Amino acid sequence: MKTNAYIYARVSTAEQQKEGFSIQAQLKMLRGYAKKNGFSVVREFVDSETARSTGRTGFNEMLVLLAKKNGCKTILVEKTDRLTRNMKDYLALDLEKTGLEIHFVREGKVMSRHSSPTEFFMQDIEIAQAAYLSRNISSEAKKGMKAKAESGFYPSVAPLGYSNTANSNGIKIIAPDPLVSPMILKMFERYSRGSVPIHMIVQELFDAGVRSKRGNKIGVSTVHKMLSNPIYRGKFIWNGREYQGNHTPIVSAELWFNVQDVLLGRRVSKPKQRYEFSYTGLMQCSECGCAITAERRKNKYTYYHCTEFKGKHGDPYIRQEKLDMQFSHILKGLRIDDRIAKWIVDSVEAKTADKRKTLEETKARLVKQRDRLQRRSDVLYDDRLDGRIDVIVFDRKSAEIRREIELVDEKLSNLDSSYVNDLLSNTKGIIELSQKANRLFLTVSGSEKKQFLKKLLSNCTLDHGTVKPEFTYPLGVLFDTNTKWKASGALSSDLCAVHSYWHPGKESNSKT
Ligand SMILES: [Zn+2]
Repeated sequence: MKTNAYIYARVSTAEQQKEGFSIQAQLKMLRGYAKKNGFSVVREFVDSETARSTGRTGFNEMLVLLAKKNGCKTILVEKTDRLTRNMKDYLALDLEKTGLEIHFVREGKVMSRHSSPTEFFMQDIEIAQAAYLSRNISSEAKKGMKAKAESGFYPSVAPLGYSNTANSNGIKIIAPDPLVSPMILKMFERYSRGSVPIHMIVQELFDAGVRSKRGNKIGVSTVHKMLSNPIYRGKFIWNGREYQGNHTPIVSAELWFNVQDVLLGRRVSKPKQRYEFSYTGLMQCSECGCAITAERRKNKYTYYHCTEFKGKHGDPYIRQEKLDMQFSHILKGLRIDDRIAKWIVDSVEAKTADKRKTLEETKARLVKQRDRLQRRSDVLYDDRLDGRIDVIVFDRKSAEIRREIELVDEKLSNLDSSYVNDLLSNTKGIIELSQKANRLFLTVSGSEKKQFLKKLLSNCTLDHGTVKPEFTYPLGVLFDTNTKWKASGALSSDLCAVHSYWHPGKESNSKT
């Protein structure tokens, strides 16, 4: 009797643009697997958006049906990250309790309550990777912009005085606007004298016909910002960092710095000193949920405490140095035993090496096949030119070859090696981060500490002076596993058991 199974397919919005990633391709593959392995597919569930957005209706519908007694308990899915792009989804599929069986077809892996602890552990790591990957994908656009900034291209809308254009290679650049840039230069020159007030500059720009990109009069604050914008001397600030631009400066560095002196001289007259606190905006009070704020005393000590916005509850004031120590201690807890770190990386490496090899062999075979077809097509063309075959035969044969080439191309585009490569590099990245986190934390200063912690923590509360952190998911798995291993004191025996499972005299590769 055939076992009933559900099929689940999903593509992200980004993937939909690419060929070979369609829902149809997944369904075809999964149906083929079901047929070959004697499953009777009772229903297919399909989602076509990123799992990070909410409406995963197909997935949720499937969960409801899976929860039914005596219902279908088998899911066929292409690969891990199709099913579980975030933690919540995974918990909803508690294999041990529900007796579910999941076939990850492309990975050639079946997870059920009979899977070994090691398989579960590796599965956890992989799912952590999927979550990490998902976040990476959403920041990919940003990464592209960062790369652009690093190579000196201003990655945004040109500021006044510049226009967005493209260079001879078609790369988008900014270039001085021939009409406005002389006015900008004049503005810097006038202001550098130190005797021309800003409102006069505002009027002069207006009289010269300079308007904002929306056609409005340029006000005092905008002129102020422009005068301190390094983009006019060839640098630019993007995402809080200064980059060396490769655009043409409008003012010389000397003139620009003279202007900064004048600006600074005027600023000193109105005392507006701001101290950058390390941890403001990072924590909430565990008692009332209000933000934790900071204040400076005697211009020497920084104290953190609840804003007590919803009512006073006598929250203690805590010195910044004490928080520094607490965070450092917490980050030390991320550091896992070197042997475990090595073991995780080794395991994933061994696994991915096998898969990469298979993928490469398949690819080489397909490329060869494609070359052969191309050669046949060439010969056929020569035959036609030399009159050895007539038009009808030529048309029929070349259509056949074209069709075969198309089929090979489809198979080639279906070879998805990115998953394998990402798995390994993300594992290395996460392990490296966990090992280095505390050291990095100690080297960054002031407000950078906050930015660093924000990347690692999904949430953080302050409980009467004690920091209670929650790590983002991939790191959370390591932190929890680590804490568990350390607390049970079973680190070495656990590791040995797990390690010998994975490497029992090197013949274990047949396991996967
Ligand atoms: Zn509070």
